[in-house]
Order: sequence, then C-alpha cells, then structure tokens
Amino acid sequence: MYDLIIIGGGPAGYTAAFEAARSGLNTALIEKGTLGGTCLHSGCIPTKTLLHTAELYREVKNGAPVGLEADGLRVNMNTLQAYKNEVIAKLTDGIRSQLSRAKVTLIEGTARVAGSGRVEVQKADGSSEIFEAKNILIACGSEPSRIPVEGLDLPGVMNSTAMLDCGTIPGRLVIIGGGVIGMEFAALYSSLGTQVTVIEALPRILSNLDKDFAQNLKLILKKQGVEIHTSASLKKVEQRDGALVCHYEEKDATREAAGDLVLVAVGRRPATKDLFSEEAGIRTERGRILVNETYETNLPGVYAAGDAIGGIQLAHVAEAEAINAVAAICGKPAPIRTDTVPSCVYTSPEIASVGITADEAKQAGQKVKVHRYVMAANGKTVLTRQERSFLKVITDEETGKIVGAQMMCARATDMIGELADCINEGRTLDSLVKTIRPHPTFNESLWELAKNERA
Ligand code: NAD
Repeated sequence: MYDLIIIGGGPAGYTAAFEAARSGLNTALIEKGTLGGTCLHSGCIPTKTLLHTAELYREVKNGAPVGLEADGLRVNMNTLQAYKNEVIAKLTDGIRSQLSRAKVTLIEGTARVAGSGRVEVQKADGSSEIFEAKNILIACGSEPSRIPVEGLDLPGVMNSTAMLDCGTIPGRLVIIGGGVIGMEFAALYSSLGTQVTVIEALPRILSNLDKDFAQNLKLILKKQGVEIHTSASLKKVEQRDGALVCHYEEKDATREAAGDLVLVAVGRRPATKDLFSEEAGIRTERGRILVNETYETNLPGVYAAGDAIGGIQLAHVAEAEAINAVAAICGKPAPIRTDTVPSCVYTSPEIASVGITADEAKQAGQKVKVHRYVMAANGKTVLTRQERSFLKVITDEETGKIVGAQMMCARATDMIGELADCINEGRTLDSLVKTIRPHPTFNESLWELAKNERA
C-alpha cells in the first residue's frame, strides 16, 4: 500500500512525486508513455529548441548591419530534429534519475482509477494489476482540441504535437488559431523562411493577453511576411492542385489560403477520457476534473492537478498546483499562491504578463495607474536591434501597490518573475527604486521606469 499514487509523469506528476518524497510519503508514479509530459515532449521544450535555432538563423541572415556576413547559410532540419530529440532525452533522463534518487516507484502502464485508493494498471504485455494507496493524484495532462471542420483529417493537416516532429520546412503554412501556440509557430516558421498565414476566429490574436501585445506583434510579424486574418472563421480544408486550401469567412466574404501544411492550434482539452470507471463517479465538467480548493475531487483521497483540472494550462501552474495538492495530502497549508500567474509567449521580442491589465482593471471598476516605459533608450535593446520593446507596470491608484505588469522585450520571460514577486509582496514603484540594477541590461529598464514614475 502506497501513501500516494500519482497518475501521469508530466510537470504536475513528477513535481508532486518529488514533493511527496521530500515529505516522507511512500510514493509511486504511473506513466503510460515517456516521463516529461506535454511540456517536455510536445510543448515548451521542443518548441523553444526549434525557436532557438530559427532565431539564430534569422539574426545571422539579417546580420549584415552588425557585421555578420554568411554565405550559404541554411537550416538542416534533420540535424535540428536530432538535436531537439537529444535535448528531450537529456531532460527525460534527468527526471528519471531524480525520481530514482527520491525512491519513487515508477510503474509503466496505463492507469485507471477504480475507486478511492484503487488504481488499475494495464501493462504493455496485456496484463493488468491493481495498486492500492491512501491517496491518488491525477495529473494526466491535456491533448490538442479538435474542431468539427471538414478536411481536418487530410494528410498534411497537423496539430502542434505532429508539427514539432516535422522534418521539412514547408514553403507555405496555414495556422488555424492565433493563440499562444499559433503565434509561436508563426514566429518559428516565418523565421525559417516559410510563408505563414494565420486564421483567427476572434477579433484579435493573443486575445487572452493585453491588446498592446497583439497590435505590436501583428506589425512585427507582418514585416516578416506573415499574413494574419482575424474575425475569420474556418469553413473547410480541401486538397487542390497539390496544396491544402483553407476556406474561411472574413468580413462576410469567403476567402482561401493555401498551404503545403496546415497547423491546427485551437486550444487544448483535459486528457481524462477512459481515466476512471463509471462506478468511480469522479465529477467532471467538459472533460476537466472538478476539484475543491485543496485539489481534492468529490471522491475522498483522490486529488487532481495541472491541465487535467482545466484553468490556466501552463507547466509552472501545474507544478504549483501539484505542490499545493501534496501539502493538502500532508495536512499542511498551500505553500504557493496560484492567483498570480506569469504567462509568456516566446516570440521575438518576447511577451510576458502577470497580474491585472489596464483593461481588466477598468472592467472590474478598479482605479489604477499605468506606467509605461518605451525601451528606445535602453542600451541593450538598441545594440541588439530589438523591435517595438516596451514595459507597462500597473499600480493601484489608492495604495500605489503593483497589481500587474506587461512586457514586450528581449528577456521579458526572465524578467516577469520579479514582477510576480512584487505583486505577491505588495511592493510599490518606490520600493523597486531602492535596488540598483546592473548596466547595461534589459532588466535596468524596470529600474528606469520605477525612477521616472515613483511617487
Ligand atoms: P489558445 O487558447 O491560446 O489559442 C487558441 C486560439 O484559437 C484562440 O485564439 C481561439 O480564438 C482560436 N480558435 C479556436 N477555434 C478556432 C477556429 N475554428 N478557427 C480559428 N481560430 C480558432 O490555445 P493554444 O494556442 O492552442 O494553446 C493551448 C494551451 O497551451 C494554452 O493554454 C496555452 O497557454 C498553452 N501554451 C503555452 C505556451 C507558453 O507558455 N509559451 C506555449 C504554447 C501553448
């Protein structure tokens, strides 16, 4: 009998396992595929690996003004794919050895919750076994959503998981969905020289983030040759003259966009199908597992965390929820606040946001001040030839406390954590001024903003 059985070895699952082992729980982790989950195998890590090469390629290709001249520069997709797989393998091994050091039992197979304290595992050899535990944590993650549009099963129409393994650079790519995945792939493939068209149903791209990001990114990508169609709804995809033709409606007109490949990136849904028996009676809502504030489901002793419970589908949120769930299992208070969540888009420049935006504050009737800093005078931004870079810090008008921040600049994804900390600690711009930042850095722009805007 284990103290805890964890289903799923992604960021929520392996983080919960490390935390449980740290807390002295006899823990087992069940994984049906490879350790690491979406983040490591078909999300964050492979995307950022490909983006790293694409960015280097674009910089060198456009490097003449900074004294870089390269003849015959080209991207070898086979080598890049092999490198990406090597990165994934290295990180997967790291998780495996950490689990082994933590004395977590790794069970390979497909798990199904049979009831409180009981998990049935189907093994690769066809056998099945029941494992028992005082507590169960479901961390089964998510999978790409599908939309009911004709032609999406044609060869060459892919989701992001398949696209990441694509060994060729398409001449033309149509991306359905202008969310985070859509924009990162648009940046990636346009940097590699692909003619990219984006079809987004809502009036703007990155609709969950501040509208300044959408406006600026649209201009930057347009300059790179990306065509973005918003308020555009996909009607069907057909194969014609060796191309995949996407029919969509925009401003009451029916239009077409042709691609050699089509990427469908219209969101992700919890991967909870076949995860529990009917009798187990775990409550769900459109596939997401319903949990209370301690991550416990309606079944006593059965917990869930990460993409499986819906909400914000990010690896760092999954990790935080997993740690809080293990704390609840151990009868301790949650150590991590999950109401302040940084979110990042790995375009160039990077985009990062945390807390409230000016528009959200307005809608909520909260009086705030918006402090802006355009990075045109920031040395590192100028010398590295960054485009349209800016910071915005939102403070509460009454208390002066920082309640939000939006950044579009190089290293924004590394800088946003500090602002998340400021929000959680109730800091003001005056308190940001107190600490010296090094020069020249992208980060010193935050100090400049605070110096200019303090009370
Ligand atoms: P998303 O929800 O961010 O974007 C999906 C987009 O598709 C939306 O803008 C939506 O309006 C659009 N859409 C939906 N149906 C459509 C249709 N029929 N035609 C045209 N457009 C349509 O989802 P995603 O980009 O697929 O990403 C999935 C999840 O993965 C998100 O939660 C995202 O935050 C996460 N993710 C995070 C990162 C990161 O942190 N950098 C990177 C990639 C993905």
